[in-house]
Amino acid sequence: MRQLPLVAIVGRPNVGKSRLFNRFCGYRKALVHDRPGLTRDRQYATARWEGKQFEVVDTGGLLGGDEERILEKGIGDQAFAAIDEARLVLFVVDARAGLTPLDEELGAVLRRRRKQVILVVNKVDGPGQEASATEFHRLGFDQVSLTSAEHGLGFDELHERIFSFIGDLCPADTEGEENVQLAIVGRPNAGKSTLVNRILGEDRVLVSSIPGTTRDAVDVSIAFRGRQVTLVDTAGIRKKARIGDAEEKLSVSMAIKQIERSAVVILLLDATKGIGAQDAAIAGHAARSGRGVIVAVNKWDLVADRSHRGARELVQQMKDRLRFLDYAPVLVISALDGTRVVKLLDQALAIEERWRARVSTSRLNSLLEKWTTEKPPPRHRGRAVKVYYGTQVASGPPVFKLFVNSGARFYFSYERYLVNRIREAFDFEGVPIRLVTAERKQRRARR
Ligand code: GDP
Repeated sequence: MRQLPLVAIVGRPNVGKSRLFNRFCGYRKALVHDRPGLTRDRQYATARWEGKQFEVVDTGGLLGGDEERILEKGIGDQAFAAIDEARLVLFVVDARAGLTPLDEELGAVLRRRRKQVILVVNKVDGPGQEASATEFHRLGFDQVSLTSAEHGLGFDELHERIFSFIGDLCPADTEGEENVQLAIVGRPNAGKSTLVNRILGEDRVLVSSIPGTTRDAVDVSIAFRGRQVTLVDTAGIRKKARIGDAEEKLSVSMAIKQIERSAVVILLLDATKGIGAQDAAIAGHAARSGRGVIVAVNKWDLVADRSHRGARELVQQMKDRLRFLDYAPVLVISALDGTRVVKLLDQALAIEERWRARVSTSRLNSLLEKWTTEKPPPRHRGRAVKVYYGTQVASGPPVFKLFVNSGARFYFSYERYLVNRIREAFDFEGVPIRLVTAERKQRRARR
């Protein structure tokens, strides 16, 4: 196995270590590799950024869910081993909670072990919190990054800082961009196994089955259009169960796990049935997850009116019921006879690329100026709202940060207006877009 430089995530409970960890490995957590000698190998993952890779370990995870133990016994042995092995430590603290005695204790431990440390002040996602970060300077680490693991903010800067320590040691990422994690979700009998079999059954090379992270999850990879496409947890899909209320519920929790590990979600619906409560629940999770989404209406072969108009009407019906997924394309397919299954995969791959895309800041700002001039933001609670400039702060999914005047807020409808303009202008079909605002206290020139 390649040797990747290791970065250890350290911090007291609840500061957001595992969120941070998930941000690093993102939807590729499925590709966590085996590490002999460690029982909880899930806490290690490969992180990829700007064509380079390194390895991350969540030392909180090494405490086996018993993180509180840190309070009595200090850091566990495994966690210590991971820290010693690490080239760099991300020492995570909580901006909302402020500096605690345990933070100071951990800081002392890290200093004694003479590790290279970046202090990560997490949960910085609201105005005023940047200021509260200053008290952590007392810990005495001069490399400081501010993040919101929850909202994906500050990660470009953090990555740059990490690379300033270990960049030279990180091998090039040869596979990362090639692999697409796809989740096929839907309620029982929607046709998920049939679709998986159809995808595997055609002339596509089966690359590998990857025994996954949960005991019975099996990911299957295929080569498609020169890329590696991983179908997440096909074992779960294939597990047959009698279909009662319990299984219906189980299908929702299974979908949640699959969604969490994917970049793009194929939401499979049954054309012969309306959208039921389970479909809506699964769709809701897909929408909230920040993944790319495509809706596939299956069993087209059973539909009486298979004219163009019939298809259009069916698509419209589904769209009306899934308003909160208005950014997701809807495709009518038949898993059984293969109709449009290749098109479905093609679109899913295209969505994955858009999901990861970054847009140009200068183009974004000239468009922002145009959009806000054409339709200025309505006053919020009597206050004028000014948009100074914006920038994309994250991708996968894209997050845009807009700098506004102090105390200003957008109404939901205006936020949606901007999101829709961004989606059209930069071709983000199938991709959820998040907007966050930050205050710019004094007027500054647009960049
Ligand atoms: P799952 O529970 O979502 O995995 O659903 P299955 O793949 O087991 O499919 C449930 C039933 O629907 C099976 O009897 C399939 O043969 C049938 N089915 C799945 N897809 C199609 C389709 O496109 N057309 C037709 N006619 N039947 C389908």
